[in-house]
Amino acid sequence: MTLNLLNDCVVLSILAKDLIIGEVMNFNRAVIKVGSALVAPTKTGCSGQYTLAIAQFITKCQQQGKEVILVSSGGVAAGRSIIHHGSPKLSIAVKKAMSSVGQMKMMANWQRFFDIPCSQILITQSDLEDRKRFISIKETIQIQLDNGVLPIVNENDTLTSEDLTVGDNDNLAALVAQVCKADSLFILSDIDGVFTKDPKIHADAILIPEIDHITDEIYALAGTSRNHLATGGMKTKIQAAEKAVEHGINTYIINGTKSEVFASLLAHKNPGTRFAADKDIIKAKKHWLKHTLKSQGKITLDSGAVNALVNKGASLLPSGIKSIVQNFKAGDAVDLIDHQNNRFIAKGISLYSHSDLKRIMGKHSDEIATILGHNQSNVVVHRDDMVIL
Ligand code: GLU
Repeated sequence: MTLNLLNDCVVLSILAKDLIIGEVMNFNRAVIKVGSALVAPTKTGCSGQYTLAIAQFITKCQQQGKEVILVSSGGVAAGRSIIHHGSPKLSIAVKKAMSSVGQMKMMANWQRFFDIPCSQILITQSDLEDRKRFISIKETIQIQLDNGVLPIVNENDTLTSEDLTVGDNDNLAALVAQVCKADSLFILSDIDGVFTKDPKIHADAILIPEIDHITDEIYALAGTSRNHLATGGMKTKIQAAEKAVEHGINTYIINGTKSEVFASLLAHKNPGTRFAADKDIIKAKKHWLKHTLKSQGKITLDSGAVNALVNKGASLLPSGIKSIVQNFKAGDAVDLIDHQNNRFIAKGISLYSHSDLKRIMGKHSDEIATILGHNQSNVVVHRDDMVIL
């Protein structure tokens, strides 16, 4: 397929999709990847120019009960002015030295915009390939989320044995999204999304709002990054999207330099390019939950919880529970019933046993640790482990 024909096809598909550009998006747990161009746009260290609006967006998401894990680039860019380098072509050793010193600045730059504590998690791809380390990362992130901490992940550049090139953090973010079972991945950079042509050269380039299948033609649309501080580019973003959607994670490429995009996201509108999650994966999990797993008990919910589950895509909190029937263990499937009309509205996996739930039902999640002496999770049934019927 020639690029012209390809562009015509893409334009037609965009026109056909006009009706769904305003499609409502929802997410419960997201990985947000922020590129160096946003963290250190002036090339002389970190700046709040774009990170402030991103931090405000994250805070609003958290206030709505959504969970966020940040993957932030910018170590090399932030440390650039501190390490002497001379030539614009940096050696790997110099980049590592910059990254290590810049990491401190980058973390401090994020922390100043949050009232909640931020944590620093430095990993390499090989950590994710090692089962024990994988679980360790997963558990650390989960416990931090449960305790209202914002995990901020970056590659541990000092320890990487390969060059820092090829957009590690785009791919890293996709891997992190898999580790922590995010439902969405937002890749924020200084470009609006995927275009039918390079928008910096062609005035008639059109933004593609929705990509259902990542094909060679989509890769052919990816230009290379012009920003010498960034190691990625459109190609690595598409690679990351490909990794994530295969795991059922909706992926978005969004322009984080435009503060209005965050208002769109909060209004459930897609301001960039969305790569749709592979629905077969989601379907397979929901199918297994709905048809294969046998329910071991019942939880009845108040009308607030019913509304939150059915209309807002929320997880079930202890505060919305009215009563519990039968002895089930943590990890068992349970039926979720509307207490007003006895309607069977959902099925999900309870993170708490019947006896623990009896003690925390009707209570705020903050009280779980005091009542039980442990806090397995702030939610009783996570949205990812639930099917609405
Ligand atoms: N880890 C690199 C840094 O902190 C960024 C890699 C990337 O953006 O892909 O500068």
